[in-house]
Amino acid sequence: METQHTNRLFYSIHEECGVFGVYGHPEAANLTYLGLHALQHRGQEGAGICSSDGKQIYTEKAMGLVADIFTDRRLKRLPGYMAIGHNRYSTAGSSSLKNVQPLVANFSLGTIAIAHNGNLINADQLRERLEEEGAIFQSNSDSEVIIHLTAHARHDSFKQRLIYALGEISGAFSLLVLREKELIAVRDPYGVRPLSIGRFDGAYVVASETCAFDLIGAEYIRDVEPGEMIIINEHGLESVQALNSKKRAFCIFEFIYFARPDSYIFGGINVNEIRKALGRQLARESRIEADLVIPVPDSGMPAALGYAEEAGLPFDLGLIRNHYVGRTFIEPKQSIRHFGVKIKLNPVRNILRNKRVVVVDDSIVRGTTSKKIVKMIREVGGAREVHMRISSPCTVGPCFYGIDTPTRRELIASSHLVEEIRKYITADSLSYLSVEGLRSCVPNPDDYCYACFTNDYPISFPGEHLQQMELFMV
Ligand code: AMP
Repeated sequence: METQHTNRLFYSIHEECGVFGVYGHPEAANLTYLGLHALQHRGQEGAGICSSDGKQIYTEKAMGLVADIFTDRRLKRLPGYMAIGHNRYSTAGSSSLKNVQPLVANFSLGTIAIAHNGNLINADQLRERLEEEGAIFQSNSDSEVIIHLTAHARHDSFKQRLIYALGEISGAFSLLVLREKELIAVRDPYGVRPLSIGRFDGAYVVASETCAFDLIGAEYIRDVEPGEMIIINEHGLESVQALNSKKRAFCIFEFIYFARPDSYIFGGINVNEIRKALGRQLARESRIEADLVIPVPDSGMPAALGYAEEAGLPFDLGLIRNHYVGRTFIEPKQSIRHFGVKIKLNPVRNILRNKRVVVVDDSIVRGTTSKKIVKMIREVGGAREVHMRISSPCTVGPCFYGIDTPTRRELIASSHLVEEIRKYITADSLSYLSVEGLRSCVPNPDDYCYACFTNDYPISFPGEHLQQMELFMV
C-alpha cells in the first residue's frame, strides 16, 4: 500500500499544463482551439475542450497535439457560446486519455468541467479521505479531488461549494470551471501559475499566457489575482476574493524557461525582457574571453542575446534546431533522451570552427543535454573552447507545484559541485547565474517562488509529503 502510494505521489507530481476559456462568443470552441494551439508549449501529451450552449456541456478530448486532435468535425461537435480547454503533459505512469482534461462530472447541481494548471500537494491525502467516504475516482489526476470536494460539500450554492473545495486543497492551481451557464476562473492564493483575463469581440477570454490572446486578437485586461475567483455569466463578471492571499509565490521558472517569450505574465511583465535581463546579469557575473556567443535554441535565445549585448561579443546561431521533434523531456526513457539531443540540434561548422564559444542555455536539469551539446560543438562544430553559461541558478530541488522536474536524486546540481558538473559536461568553463542575480532581474523579487534553486518551498507540505521529500534528498 505504502509503495503504491509513493509511486502515485511521484507519478502525479509531474504536470505542466495550459488552460484557455471563453465566455460569450458564438465561436467559443474555435477560439479555444486557437488559444490552446498558442499554449501548446505548456503541454503536448493531450488536449481537450468542453463547450456549453447554456443547456448542456459537450466534450472532445484526445491524446496528441491540438492541431491534430481538433479537426473540423470535432470542433463542430462543440457548439455553444462558452468553452474551456486544456493542454496536458505528464510523464509516464499517468499518461492516458482518462487523465486528459477538462475533467467532467455530473452531480446534484448539474454538470461541471474543470481544467487545471498546477499541482496540488495534498491531493493524495484528500483522495484517500474522499475514497473512504465513498467517492469513486475516474482518473488518477490530482485535479479530480476538486470535483469530488465540490460534490461532497454541504453548502447550497455552487459558489459556496467551490469555495469550500478550494479551501481544502493546497498547492498550485490556475483553474477554469465550466458549468452549463457560467465560466469560473480561480487562481491559488500564492498565484504560483499565471492566469490572465482578456476581452475579444465582446466576449471574455481567460488564458494561462497572453500569447494566446495575441493569436485571436484579444486585448489583455489584467491577471486573475492570487486567491481571486472570477465568475462570468449572464449577469456579467463578478470578482470574489475566495481565498486569503498572504504571500505571493509566482513561479520564477515561468520566466526562465516555461512561458513563451512573447507572453506578459505576473502583472503584465514581458517574459522576453526578463530573459534578456538574466543574460545581461549572467554576463556581468561570469564574463570570459571569447569570440562568440551562441544560444541553445529556443529556450536560451533571449538570455544569449542579453549576454552578448552586455559582454560586447558577437552573437550568432551556432546551433540549429529541428522544430519537428518534441521537447527532449517528453521522451520517458534515458536512452531516447540521449538520442533526442542529436535529432533536435545540429551545429553550424562555419560559425563555430576554431572559435572560443560561449554557449547560453536557460537551465541544466540532469546534465544530459549540456553534455551532448558541448561534445557536439567541439567535435562536430570544431570549436576551440566551449564555455557554458546558464541563465538560472543551480537546479537543486524538484518542483511540487507544476513544473516537470525529475526527483532530487536526478538533478545533477543537487549532488554535484559546479566544478564537478563542468567536468561531467566536458566544458572549458561553466557558470550559473546567482540567486541574488536572478532576484535582481525581476520587480518585487520577494513575490516569487525560487524553491527549485533554494529548496525553500513557500507552500508547506502535509507531513507525509515532507517525508517523501526527505527520502529523495541525496
Ligand atoms: P537536462 O538534459 O536534463 O539537463 O535538460 C536541460 C534542458 O532541458 C535545458 O536545455 C532546458 O532548456 C530544458 N528544460 C529545463 N526544464 C525543463 C522542463 N521542465 N521541461 C522540459 N525541458 C526543460
